[in-house]
Parts: sequence; C-alpha cells; structure tokens
Amino acid sequence: MTNDATAACWRSQPRRMQRDRMADATDAQCSMLNAHERAPKCQENMAAYRSRATQDTQDWLSRLPSAPSFQSGTTAPECQSALQSGKPAAPAAGAGPTASPLLNWGAFPTRNKRPAPRTWGPSPLDLADARRGSNHKQKNMSKSPTTTITVAIAGGGPSGLTLAGTLGREAPECFEVTIFERGAKDRDQGAGWDVSAEAQASLQRAGVNPQVYQCPGSDNMRFYKAGESDPLTVLRLPPYLERLGVKKAYLGLDECNLETERSKIINALVESLPPSTTVLYDTVISEATQDSEGKMELLGRDGSSLGKFDVVVDASGVSSRLRRTRFTEEADSYYTGKCLLRSTMDNPRKTCSAEISSKLSGTTGFYGPSSDGLGTEEVMLQRFGVHSPKYTLSLTISIQDPQRLVDQLKFEGIHGSTNDPEALQRVKDYVDKRLAAFPSGYREMFDGISSAHVTRVKMHPSYEEAMKSTTPGSDELPFLSIGDALHALPPWSGMSGNYSLQDANDLATALIEEHQKGDWSSESIAIKFRELEKDFSLRTEDRRKEVAWTMDDKDYMSSTPIKDFAMVGRITNKPWSWKDPLQVIAGFMRFVTFLNRFDNYGVGVL
Ligand SMILES: Cc1cc2nc3c(=O)[nH]c(=O)nc-3n(C[C@H](O)[C@H](O)[C@H](O)COP(=O)(O)OP(=O)(O)OC[C@H]3O[C@@H](n4cnc5c(N)ncnc54)[C@H](O)[C@@H]3O)c2cc1C
Repeated sequence: MTNDATAACWRSQPRRMQRDRMADATDAQCSMLNAHERAPKCQENMAAYRSRATQDTQDWLSRLPSAPSFQSGTTAPECQSALQSGKPAAPAAGAGPTASPLLNWGAFPTRNKRPAPRTWGPSPLDLADARRGSNHKQKNMSKSPTTTITVAIAGGGPSGLTLAGTLGREAPECFEVTIFERGAKDRDQGAGWDVSAEAQASLQRAGVNPQVYQCPGSDNMRFYKAGESDPLTVLRLPPYLERLGVKKAYLGLDECNLETERSKIINALVESLPPSTTVLYDTVISEATQDSEGKMELLGRDGSSLGKFDVVVDASGVSSRLRRTRFTEEADSYYTGKCLLRSTMDNPRKTCSAEISSKLSGTTGFYGPSSDGLGTEEVMLQRFGVHSPKYTLSLTISIQDPQRLVDQLKFEGIHGSTNDPEALQRVKDYVDKRLAAFPSGYREMFDGISSAHVTRVKMHPSYEEAMKSTTPGSDELPFLSIGDALHALPPWSGMSGNYSLQDANDLATALIEEHQKGDWSSESIAIKFRELEKDFSLRTEDRRKEVAWTMDDKDYMSSTPIKDFAMVGRITNKPWSWKDPLQVIAGFMRFVTFLNRFDNYGVGVL
C-alpha cells in the first residue's frame, strides 16, 4: 500500500477508532519496555511519559482537520514541535499509521543490531570535529523542546557511564552525550564490588544486568584470627533462616551485597551505550568555564578547548579536578591516613593453603599479630565476581605520608597498578617483614599476586562543610559533580559506588524531566542541579558520620595485641567493655555469628 493509500484508509476510519489505535500503540510500547524489565523508577517515568504522550495524541487528534501523515523515525520532540506549529510532521515514504511517532519515544535500542558507540583516542581532527559540532549547536541555540541538550561527562567510570547509558536508552533524541575519560579503554578497572539493590536497579536501567556478574551466595563477610578455625565474626543470613522467610534487613544485614566484578560491569556499560554517545579516551579534563551565552566550555590538559556544552557533569572520581568549578580547595577530598596495598591474586583457591582456601567466600578478613607483637594487622580478601577466580588481597596500612610507601616499594608513581615482577617481589619482601608474626601460609598468599597498587584512601567533607567553601558564582552554573567526585567515602564503607550509581540514575531522570518541560535553560538546569547536589550529598551523610567516627582505629590496631583483639574495638577504636553503650554493636555481631554457627558459618559453601 502506498503512503497516500494508507493515509486515505486511515482517514476513512472513525475518529474514535483512530484514537484507540494510537492508544494501543502507546500500550504496545509500554509492554515492550516491561518485557525488558525496566528498573522500577524507570517504569514510573515511562508511565508518566505514556500518560503525557497519550494526552498529546488526543490533543493532536482533536486539532487536526484530517488524519496526520506519519514519518517513520519521527520522535517525540519532533512530534511536539509539529504540535506547536499546528502541522503534522512531514510524511515519509512507506510509513503507515502504525508507525506512530510515539513508538520511537525512548524505545529500546535493539542490542544485537546496534552498531558500537563511537570510541576513539582523540586526534586533533577528532577534537576539532567535536568542537565544530558544539559551536554549530551554539549558533543555533534555541531553547525549545526540539533542542538537543548537549551533555559533557568528565569520567568514564561507573557513574558517568550509567548516566550516559540511561540518557541514551531513554531519550536518545533529547541528549547528545560526550564522555571524556582520561584513561585508556583497556585501563585497570578495579576489582570486586558489592552492588546494592538500588545500584543494581540503576545499572539495569542503563542496560546492564549486574546479576550476570554476581557470585551467588557471596553476600557475606567473615573475619578470622589468622590460624584459628572458627571465625571471630560472621555477617551473613544463614540459609535456614532465609527459608523461614527471614529477610537480611531484619538482621541489619541488607548491606551485605553479592560480589560483582567491576571491570565486567564497566565493559558492559560501555557496550550498552547507544551509537549516538561519543566516548573520548585518553582525554583529561582540567577545567570548565561558562561563556557569555551560558554554555560550559571544557578545557583539556594543555588548556585547549574540548568543546562547549549545555551541561557538564563531573563524574571524575574522588580526586576530581573539575570539582573546583563548584567548590574551593578547602572542600577537596582529604587523605584518611590509611593506604591499601592492593594486589590481585589470579586464583587463590589454587595458590593458597587448603586452610585459607576453605575460608574464602564473599569478603574475608584475617587479623594477626603485628611484627613487634604489640598490635594487630589486617588483611582483606574480596572476590571479583562470578566469572573470575580472581581476588583482591589488601593490606591496610596507616601511614601519614603514602608517598613514602610508594618510594619504599619503588613503584613508578602513586597512580595505576604495576605488574613488573621486580616491583611485585618488593611487595612480597615488604609483606614478609610486616606479617612476620603471622602463620607462614598467610604471608605465602602474596606469592600468588600478579599486580599491585597503593591506594590512598580519601573521602570528602560533609555537605555542610563543603557548602562553606563554594566557588563564587557557581550556584548559577549548569555543572554538577556526582558519585565519588561529589561525596566519596572510603572503600570500607561498602557504599560509595552504590551511592554513585544512584546519583547517575536520579540525574538521568531529572535531565529527562527538564527536557520534557520544554522551556529549559542553563539557569533552570543550574537550579535543578543545586537541588540534586544537596540530595545526593545528604543521602551519604549518615554513612559519612559512621565512617568518620570509626575511622581512626590506628591507636587501637597498633596497641591491641591479637589475643585482646575484638571486631567491635576495630570499629569503635577502643577496647570493648560491658559498661560501654556500644556493646550493643558487639552484641549484634555475636548474635549473627552465633546464628551462623548452626550452618558451619557457611564455610565450604562456595
Ligand atoms: C578497594 C575498593 C573496594 C571498593 N568496594 C566497594 C563496594 O564494595 N561497594 C561500593 O559501593 N563501593 C566500593 N568502592 C568504591 C567504588 O569503587 C567507587 O565509589 C566508585 O568507583 C565511584 O564511581 P565513580 O564513577 O563516581 O568514580 P570512579 O570510579 O573513580 O571513576 C572516575 C573516572 O573518571 C576518570 N577521570 C578522573 N579524572 C579525570 C579527568 N580529569 N578527566 C577525565 N577523566 C577523568 C577516571 O579515570 C575514572 O575512570 C570500592 C573502592 C575501592 C578502592
């Protein structure tokens, strides 16, 4: 049937039938979305879009003197502009009534058929292209619903990629997203990561199913005194209680999440980016400034322009340089006084002793005597995820100047990990001395390492503190830091990455809503960003207080011999006593450990 014939056939139908078919099309779109198991928040958004779209359809139909002509590939913004001008979108050959404009609104890209997103290392030509593109936009900047919002994301870590993926999947026509990542595509992505339920929903919304990468049954933490067979503390919901309907939250264990491989998640996020998203690797962002028209200009390492954008999102992690756009130096992240000497073990189940290997699952901690016998040392192991036998092995080191440790180990620098065999040998020598009083099997764990890294653990001050140090004039900027760039917490909080993914999810929702309003401007986005900055920061505050309160355990660890060591002292930084109100924490941990006793503490389950 030709297009004209189709339109004639459509016109011949009664108006109510036309409306019903349009509504059916909208429903069909929604069931397609449901079939892809959208995250709950996303489903809410789509429900809002659906009702709005249905309303638009009805308005449109009531205004049109005759049936509209449909263009395959017409998008909702185009649909809205057609609505504003009072004219339907231009007809396209072969398009029939079922090619509703609404069908393309936030439709899922077909994974199999989609070409890969544009990724490259920047050449001068690429950057010139990127600049030309944004300058072109600037000249044509009219803030109507049809205008694409150009979004620059500094940092291709979990939060930046989740934001880009969500915008690209749900509103590809509304946003033009460019990610600037300082590292190479094949850079070290880190290791295990316990992803919370909320963070899983955010990843799912961005097109990644984290469950694929999770290690079933690894949602537990076990802490041992080195050489002892029974654990000191076990944080785990025993399966027999689960079968009785007990939930993790009832025992305060809801933050014991399944081990997931971080690099797999990041790679999957990159793969699920739509082709319209540009990823520039090996590109460092050093500064963002606003021009007289309200656009944000990004500057590279050498001060050259990397383009102008309507919105800049800083997702560049705990040591963000861009954060200074919003906060002064006083609100920078600060060093917690602790380093992690982190190494990767390729297959500890093969290289460790049978005794240690049997204790591995989820997160495992071993405590043993310091070399002088006066204090206690901590070694932690964290599994990568389901597809990998690898583990991260970390030694926690309290040291005022982490550079001294880097110099002592003769690492190239504080950034990046090393797999240089000589450097790894120096790590083993260092560990041999430091853990000299541990049973030998625990030192030998380090014989199986394949890379090592010194992580300076940093965190940000509270929101209240940060707000005392805002950069003058920054309230009005369409600039927002998210994730670790805004509110980093130490790894032992177990939540910093989870909050980061929630930020990306909520920011995507807010940007889509802002675009939907139709009259967005850099001012309206800046106002929204200040609200989000507050919300994102405040949700981390309880955990920040806990972490700050428990952080300085240096004295306890250096002055408590292993025979007196207790987990609660590690948390509260003081010897445990029955008179202390904090005994409730000790009581809780003992109770959960006791419950696990009837299930052999879960040892040997994995
Ligand atoms: C050992 C360890 C274990 C952890 N375990 C957990 C856990 O179990 N659960 C949890 O929730 N969290 C955990 N975390 C924290 C979690 O990894 C971070 O919170 C999370 O990675 C933050 O994501 P992000 O995208 O905000 O920042 P990042 O992951 O830091 O990503 C920032 C990206 O920006 C890039 N970048 C930096 N500067 C620039 C620049 N100037 N220009 C361009 N690009 C730049 C970086 O190369 C990087 O790719 C752990 C962290 C560590 C170190």
